[in-house]
Amino acid sequence: MRRILQLPNNVITKIAAGEVIERPASVVKELLENSLDAGSTRIDIDIEEGGSELIRVVDNGHGIHPDDLELAFSNHATSKLANADDLFAVRTMGFRGEALASIGGVAQVNLQSRTVDALVGTELSCHGSDLSPIRVWNGAVGTRIEVRHLFFNTPVRRKFLRTASTETGHICEIVTRIALSTPGLHISLKHNGKKVYEIPATADLLERIGIFFGKEVRDQLYAIDRQQGPAHLFGYIADPACERGNAKAQYLFLNGRWIRDRSLGHALQEGYRGLLMTGRYAVAFLYLEIPPDQVDVNVHPTKSEVRFRDSSALYSFILSTVRNRLSEEELTARMQAPSPSASTNGTGSYFSPKPTEYTPSLFAMPGFPAFSKQPMVAGVGNQGSGIRDHESGIGSQESGDESQESGSEEVPTTAKDQGPRTTDSSEVLNAIQLHNTYLVVETTEGMLVIDQHALHERVLFEAIKGRLKQGTLESQHLLIPEPVELSAEQAALVLERRRDLEELGLGVEDFGGNTVIITRYPALLGRRSPAEILKRVVDHLVSQDQVPTREQMLNGLMSLMACHAAVRSGDPLNAEEISALVEMRHLSNDTHHCPHGRPTALLFTRQELDRQFRRV
Ligand code: ADP
Ligand code: MG
Repeated sequence: MRRILQLPNNVITKIAAGEVIERPASVVKELLENSLDAGSTRIDIDIEEGGSELIRVVDNGHGIHPDDLELAFSNHATSKLANADDLFAVRTMGFRGEALASIGGVAQVNLQSRTVDALVGTELSCHGSDLSPIRVWNGAVGTRIEVRHLFFNTPVRRKFLRTASTETGHICEIVTRIALSTPGLHISLKHNGKKVYEIPATADLLERIGIFFGKEVRDQLYAIDRQQGPAHLFGYIADPACERGNAKAQYLFLNGRWIRDRSLGHALQEGYRGLLMTGRYAVAFLYLEIPPDQVDVNVHPTKSEVRFRDSSALYSFILSTVRNRLSEEELTARMQAPSPSASTNGTGSYFSPKPTEYTPSLFAMPGFPAFSKQPMVAGVGNQGSGIRDHESGIGSQESGDESQESGSEEVPTTAKDQGPRTTDSSEVLNAIQLHNTYLVVETTEGMLVIDQHALHERVLFEAIKGRLKQGTLESQHLLIPEPVELSAEQAALVLERRRDLEELGLGVEDFGGNTVIITRYPALLGRRSPAEILKRVVDHLVSQDQVPTREQMLNGLMSLMACHAAVRSGDPLNAEEISALVEMRHLSNDTHHCPHGRPTALLFTRQELDRQFRRV
């Protein structure tokens, strides 16, 4: 039996540091917050090698009393809290008194500081928790901290650091948050001696947004400013046209502190409902001010998550503010689909009904005829036969020998048996392609307008998903493996996720350097360039905020694959191809519609048309 031992202090510090200091950017965050708490109006940051070699922060704040210099490095030592009551009225960025102790535990830190009334400054270093004697320092009022060789004594952590450019990216993000949350602050960042940002104190919020996000975003912002009870919400929300592929450009500041809040982020997205497609995110800079006793900030060591007393009131406050502001703008014209009911009642409201309400029947089921414009690349040694053209179809294995030739009016039994058919099961009389983008279909019931890409993509997505579930997603060996050169970070990510990619039929192997080779390729991607797909996959992986769960990643990759394999807008289709695609709409029933997102087709019934033209 092993006996219980009290851990030595340096081990405790290392354990605690693991929570607060994850990477160079966490150090930058803690140091900047300390500088702000010290009332600094100017902060200059220098980093080397993404911060892993050096992080230097120089501020003009009130400095540290010479007698407190040692205390600054000891755990749970802070000048910001006096008693437990203060915890519930926190107005400073820091208060836990653990950042400097943690940083000093896992790096080589030199701290120099001078207060206004001191004749001379003092300095002290802390190398892996070992304190040096205090020395005199001749410097300006303020504090200067250098952090060198981060994680020098925790090699495992150090190994986990990504490339300098990735780490710099994280640091830039921290600087962005601080610059956006602190009006009047002069802040600069240099990497390896080169200027990255220089934000003058005079730059107002709009200018700051312009510096970090470019003119395109700055010129498409709508100001918001609303008070509700003690809560004040202000800032900018961007036109839906600024949409992004992730939520990273959604900034929320609570009482001057950047926070992440799932629920309030959702409120923002809800405010844009109907104006953004599935998987697209609004850009916004929201500032929420509420009395400190309405929120608990002591939930998380990095303080990026908080707990609100009344989060549902805040949810509706944000949702209604965003929605009302957007409805003041003439955004209706940009709606993806005019609402038949809106056009009759003349309101033109775009928040309801949802676009998807027109297309319940058009979302596909697994087991559908394949659709590809051209013969696929030659494949050998693949698990299945691969898809060749729409004569065989990747759904053919599921539906036995059933003919799924293009133009066939046959509906695969798998889909037929799925339950009640929806409105558009009526017979196709005629179909044409317009603008190489839309298919206009005359059915016995009325007129159907299909977005060729959207429909095909949706059908493929469902199919890939179905196939993946059954483990029958075909892939084909490339006759000549294709090398793809990536950045070090990208190559590492791809190899890290190799198993998941393999599951999706994408075989990659390490080729040395930053090159990977593609050995196998999802059959359904047909003639699309494997390298192009891999690069898209990489972009997708890199753009993820945190390491996505396997589920999230597969979903992301599946939609990427579906998007790529699908016919595109602008692809001319011949008659056969048109009818093959039109048939795909049968492969769904009304229990299979996507809760969000853009429609794949719009149905105008004969009655609706007659009514619109006042024939009734
Ligand atoms: P916390 O910020 O939670 O109090 P830290 O470990 O980050 O804990 O810092 C410990 C103390 O060191 C702070 O409470 C503050 O008094 C002092 N300090 C740290 N950085 C600075 C700075 N840049 N200027 C003035 N005082 C500082
Ligand atoms: Mg602090």
